[in-house]
Amino acid sequence: MSGYAVDPCDQCEELLQPFLDRVLTDDERAQAEEHLAMCAYCRKRYRFEEELRQFVRSAAAEEMPPELKTKLAELRTPLL
Ligand SMILES: [Zn+2]
Repeated sequence: MSGYAVDPCDQCEELLQPFLDRVLTDDERAQAEEHLAMCAYCRKRYRFEEELRQFVRSAAAEEMPPELKTKLAELRTPLL
């Protein structure tokens, strides 16, 4: 037994985070893209991870600075 065959999907998963962080070398990115082009399973994983990141980013954007919250609370307070 060779015991040396690396599962390309495992390898692709290792590249997922750095791929989305855009910190891969050109070679590594090409390797990931080549695999993604022929592997629907990994494409799905990459897409899911990317959407998750976008969701987290937009959720973080909704986190308002406290000064702004205070201002909005003041606006909502009826001026009687
Ligand atoms: Zn794959």
